[in-house]
Amino acid sequence: MKPTPAQPGWVYLVGAGPGDPELLTLKAARLIGEADVLVYDNLVSKAVLALANPAAELMYAGKERGNHSLPQEEINELLVRLAKSGKRVVRLKGGDPYIFGRGGEEVETLQADGVRFEVVPGITAAAGVAAYAGIPLTHRNHAQACVFVTGHLQDGSMNLDWPGLARRRQTVVIYMGLSGLPHLCEKLMEHGLPADWPAAIVQHGTQPTQRTVTGTLGSLPTLAETANLRAPTLIIVGEVVTLRDKLRWFAESLTAEAAA
Ligand code: SAH
Repeated sequence: MKPTPAQPGWVYLVGAGPGDPELLTLKAARLIGEADVLVYDNLVSKAVLALANPAAELMYAGKERGNHSLPQEEINELLVRLAKSGKRVVRLKGGDPYIFGRGGEEVETLQADGVRFEVVPGITAAAGVAAYAGIPLTHRNHAQACVFVTGHLQDGSMNLDWPGLARRRQTVVIYMGLSGLPHLCEKLMEHGLPADWPAAIVQHGTQPTQRTVTGTLGSLPTLAETANLRAPTLIIVGEVVTLRDKLRWFAESLTAEAAA
């Protein structure tokens, strides 16, 4: 299939993957190079932005925890305005735009305003980070299911289906879970998983600053705190974490391994 070049007046909602620019799809890389304007989130790596046309305008749209530089509605309106002014707009989001990325809301606005758009999937953090950390998300002997949840704290707690998450033979991947890690581990144990159940947290997965800390539900919160990890981090809970000992391949600059 011959690709259609980016069209003036269109918005391309593009998944930028977890950081390593080589994890972009060919389509994402092409559109990033063709865009007149790129509206990007803080999770988009510099290495990915470096693929933009030097003449293109780069617009930062946020958001870091507690520092929402542009409210979601303003981002939505901005995209509509840029498209209507005839620009080729790439809206770049970390990972995949439809996994904890509010991509659906942005596209709803575009659709309501009659702006034409395309959505380009990306490698979501769970897939990219797990691969670079040496942790298969499913494995015949350990996990037949894998669940992605957001660990974003609201009023100090997470509104999650704990009995459904605290299950054996399943991997749970928690996005946005760094500050809620102690609460998360406590809840999973309260709902039946043992304190020695394997768990890992990975900082800056797929990037040169990747660091992985492995432990258990009982030990991980303290180990992570000692390691002084920086967002973004991804938490992986389940027996598959033990496979990292054999399957790790990516050289981490500052390895913060801890025995489980
Ligand atoms: N749409 C994105 C997720 C956005 S939510 C995706 O599909 O990946 C933001 C959360 O994603 C972060 O808080 C973190 O938990 C996770 N994340 C994204 N990139 C990451 C990375 N390189 N390393 C670790 N976690 C990452």
